[in-house]
Amino acid sequence: MADIVRSLQSLRGIDAQKDAPLAHHTTWKVGGPAELLVHANDVSSLGVLLEIIREEELPLFVLGNGSNVLVSDRGLEGVTMRLGGEFNSTSVNGEKLMAGGGAPLGLVVGKALKASLEGFEFAVGIPGTVGGSVMTNAGAFSGSIAGVIAEVETVALNGEKTRHSDIEDSYRSRLVPGNDIVTGAVFLLKSGPAGRIREIAESIMERRKTTQPWGMATAGSVFKNPPGDYAGRMIEECGLKGKRMGGARVSDTHANFITNDGTAKASDIKSLIDMVRGEVKARFGIELELEIQLVGFDKE
Ligand SMILES: Cc1cc2nc3c(=O)[nH]c(=O)nc-3n(C[C@H](O)[C@H](O)[C@H](O)COP(=O)(O)OP(=O)(O)OC[C@H]3O[C@@H](n4cnc5c(N)ncnc54)[C@H](O)[C@@H]3O)c2cc1C
Repeated sequence: MADIVRSLQSLRGIDAQKDAPLAHHTTWKVGGPAELLVHANDVSSLGVLLEIIREEELPLFVLGNGSNVLVSDRGLEGVTMRLGGEFNSTSVNGEKLMAGGGAPLGLVVGKALKASLEGFEFAVGIPGTVGGSVMTNAGAFSGSIAGVIAEVETVALNGEKTRHSDIEDSYRSRLVPGNDIVTGAVFLLKSGPAGRIREIAESIMERRKTTQPWGMATAGSVFKNPPGDYAGRMIEECGLKGKRMGGARVSDTHANFITNDGTAKASDIKSLIDMVRGEVKARFGIELELEIQLVGFDKE
């Protein structure tokens, strides 16, 4: 691995770091080290990186802003890759908004507001990237990525580039094939009055701040809502608000959120998730499905 790090560090457009603590790159602020954390900053360096990954047969995990993952305390083997540099860019052409796969949703929302384009307000306050939100079909307040997306650009591990325009809407599920890397997306929005768009965005932000544990270390909703019900309601009815495992706690503000008080390990959060799941199953006979993704737990 030392040779690989050296050769990556000599490449322009790549930042590589060995044994990088992933707790610094997840919103839950937990997770052990990435054996190798690499930032790919442009298309050609991404191509070179994928070639090395293929040649060395290294495991690859693509990380966005780490706001929908629980990374194990053990960390991740192989390469954990984030997109930076030109993958963070955004631009507008008429009612189309183009964004790189690493662009934070906050930047995209801001760009849409500035250009008086409506349709993206639902994403205000979702702390993900374009790539992560395509892979989770992020949504809120009756809107979702699938509802505004026109095209997704991906690169497969073998280097093959694809433009996907026939995208099927599916609740909190990936919109393009699993192992592809989302390098960019085109969103189709509508021109509208700037004042109204801003008002909607502000009221959504206000609702987030009052209904969610805003400002705390979380990963958003832990479980998907089962058909016709709400995971948060079921968890609350089980009397689990405020339940703790180590530094992890079921939020008092929204029962489908788990907060880290700053001392939690990934294992505390995982134990709390398992406990909540078990209680909901016992009371309602329903197995809650995870909205967050567990990463690096297979060997624990
Ligand atoms: C306070 C808070 C509020 C939230 N509110 C919402 C909400 O209202 N609605 C909602 O849907 N979610 C919400 N979330 C969850 C989360 O922000 C979204 O799911 C977000 O879209 C995840 O993006 P990310 O970049 O952080 O992805 P990550 O968590 O880094 O990754 C998620 C998945 O996407 C994959 N991935 C990431 N980038 C790429 C890429 N470029 N190419 C290929 N795969 C990639 C990862 O491998 C992983 O499988 C919230 C989270 C927090 C902390």
